Amino acid sequence: MKIIMKFGGTSVGSVPALEKVVGIVRKAFDEGHQVITVVSAMSGVTNKLIEAAHQAEAGDEAIARRTRREIEEKHSQTTLAFLGQSTVREAVMAEIQALLDEFELLCHGIHVLGELTPRALDVISGMGERMNVRQITAILNVNNLPALPVDATALIVTDNRHGAASPLLEETARQTRITLAPCFERGQIPVVTGFIAATQAGVPTTLGRGGSDYSATILGRAIKADEIWIWTDVNGVMTADPRVVPNARTIPQLSYAEVGELAYFGAKVLHPQAIRPARRAEIPVRILNTFEPEHPGTLINNRIDTNGHVVKAITVIKNLSLITVAGTGMIGIPGVAARIFSAVARIGSSVLMISQSSSEQSICFVVNTTESPAVQAVLSEEMARELERRDLDEISTQDDIVILAVVGAGMQGTPGVSARVFGALGHFGINVIAIAQGSSEFNISLVVIEGEADEAVRAIHEEFRLHA
Ligand code: ASP
Ligand code: MG
Repeated sequence: MKIIMKFGGTSVGSVPALEKVVGIVRKAFDEGHQVITVVSAMSGVTNKLIEAAHQAEAGDEAIARRTRREIEEKHSQTTLAFLGQSTVREAVMAEIQALLDEFELLCHGIHVLGELTPRALDVISGMGERMNVRQITAILNVNNLPALPVDATALIVTDNRHGAASPLLEETARQTRITLAPCFERGQIPVVTGFIAATQAGVPTTLGRGGSDYSATILGRAIKADEIWIWTDVNGVMTADPRVVPNARTIPQLSYAEVGELAYFGAKVLHPQAIRPARRAEIPVRILNTFEPEHPGTLINNRIDTNGHVVKAITVIKNLSLITVAGTGMIGIPGVAARIFSAVARIGSSVLMISQSSSEQSICFVVNTTESPAVQAVLSEEMARELERRDLDEISTQDDIVILAVVGAGMQGTPGVSARVFGALGHFGINVIAIAQGSSEFNISLVVIEGEADEAVRAIHEEFRLHA
């Protein structure tokens, strides 16, 4: 089989973790699989790089040097543990030093100009991956695995939306096949940088935070992988956050559609875009635990199956605000909703959930709290005349709310699911502020106040006996 194995930050963030990685790659390689690894930066490194770039822009001249030392130390200790005092280690550290020199130089430029462009930020934030592939390749090599470092700038072609670029799939497939073919012929294991890519003109981009998952599925589609294995630090996708629900358990199988809902709704399983390339190419994805490699984790494929559970998982998005536009003047007047959402779109704010009652007396929707003042302002402006004429009573904002998403393909066409959801919440005296259900019926979304979110999750988890 051709298997893409993506290792996340914690899976490559320490010596014990990397020992696991060596074992995992060795096993698949010895079994005769063609393995392609995609790796994140060591945990914490991307945050440090981004933080330093922002501080440099804000005037801190010393931050680049300090950050450099910290990152250098992390890699130095790791390479020492695996490679000892050797020429191999010296060579790897020299490459890492060169990247860190470039980092310092860039930060210096940013400091002098007092300006951090999205393009420069992409170059800086992707350096952790570039350092790490060199380090991991050397570690695999000393363990007699024929690894080879590959920068994804030579594979993944994107548009130029810095910070959250989108792949151009045909170009990517072509580039990837050309670049990786010699590796495959020689039986090598490419160790590819996650997260980073480049435009057609070769300008570095990134796929958004947590984007290494996306790199893995983009590459999986490009090389027609048989499976994509996402190695992380938990046993697959859980029925709920185990910190909130102690008896939450692993979901053995999910469909692409279900996982899409979960990823979008904040379950930290996958980058929200990552499932799409796998879904289109129908490549099974497994979510596995580096620290417990024998655990079967979660298999994601195109099977839509209840596996005995109509509801499979509950997830929560926090830091949200509910905006309500209310007034009897909206009744029967076409175009009000269009004006509201056009105004919101104009300021680039994204709407997470919408609900309107059929009496048409109010429309409410949910946005990120960071964006709610701007949304409130643009709506007051857009609707100024209606407000003045009292056709609209008010535009109000309620902060500290969450969306609870109840997800499961089995809800489709099964009557009584929402009754049970609301019954469970009612039983615990939890007030539901707004509701939405997509016509896919894979997801019922509810708004509750943040303070009641945990109890709400536990109540629904219990009602549907998700621990069993
Ligand atoms: N290193 C990047 C980040 O921290 C990408 C990833 O880990 O997936 O966002
Ligand atoms: Mg991640």
